[in-house]
Amino acid sequence: MVYEGDVYRPPSEAHSLIIQVTIGCSHNTCTFCYMYTDKRFRIRKREEILQDLEECSRLYKNYVRRVFFADGDALIVRTELLLELLEYVRTHFPYAERVTAYGTASDVLRKSEDELKALRAAGLTMVYLGAESGDDDILLHIKKGQTAQELIDAGQKLKRCGIQTSVTLISGLGGPEGMERHALASARLINEMNPEYASILSLQVPENTPMAQEIACGEMRLLTADETVDETEIFLRAIDSPGTVFRSNHASNYVALAGTFNQDIPAMLAQLEEAKKRRQYRPDWMRAL
Ligand code: SF4
Repeated sequence: MVYEGDVYRPPSEAHSLIIQVTIGCSHNTCTFCYMYTDKRFRIRKREEILQDLEECSRLYKNYVRRVFFADGDALIVRTELLLELLEYVRTHFPYAERVTAYGTASDVLRKSEDELKALRAAGLTMVYLGAESGDDDILLHIKKGQTAQELIDAGQKLKRCGIQTSVTLISGLGGPEGMERHALASARLINEMNPEYASILSLQVPENTPMAQEIACGEMRLLTADETVDETEIFLRAIDSPGTVFRSNHASNYVALAGTFNQDIPAMLAQLEEAKKRRQYRPDWMRAL
């Protein structure tokens, strides 16, 4: 099996078998994102995907515990094909415990609840939803292509259908002026969705992206470490999402946080205050991705 181009996966899929179901991202316009700019989006042919699965089952069938369908938004694939792929995993990888994929709100909203329930029954356990922000102006500015309400609707729909959701936010997307708005709207988004998992990354802007140009010409500024912590504190104080497992321990983050809402929020706020007081931040050279 040969992967086409660079392959990206969530940190929690580090030990998963990654199968490219699509190539690239169907949206591919977020202003901070470089991941799939070199790929023209397409859904791979059924035969190609099955060939990869067949080859992997021959070599690794007794070792695979988790399967991740890549690239950017595998959930865009028609339900019949996804069901066939999930069935293949169920019957050829006897120790596979879960299958997950990236998905956009549009992918989720396009499918009926019956389709999503069928996907869950066939083994799709979780969808990674990159929300980035709960603020509509910020979502528009970064060309996310979805509104906060669409993201909330998608999260609630997945929950009704028994599919877990892992929601990612990005701190700093509103710049210093928009940080309070970004934090409060993002907390509201999480509260309304009450996902199983939520995480915050810190904004890092690769060269050659539209956002890098905004920064270069002074239209936007990245948050300092102190400002990033302030923004996270505003977010945590506004959270009411019992049971959501929260992580902010990505390589991009100044302070690594981990806990469960709501009970661990006071401890995480205390950790942030302590880090700010002692200026114990992950140095920028370690935050380079
Ligand atoms: S939807 Fe995700 S993968 Fe696609 S351009 Fe936006 S951030 Fe990148």
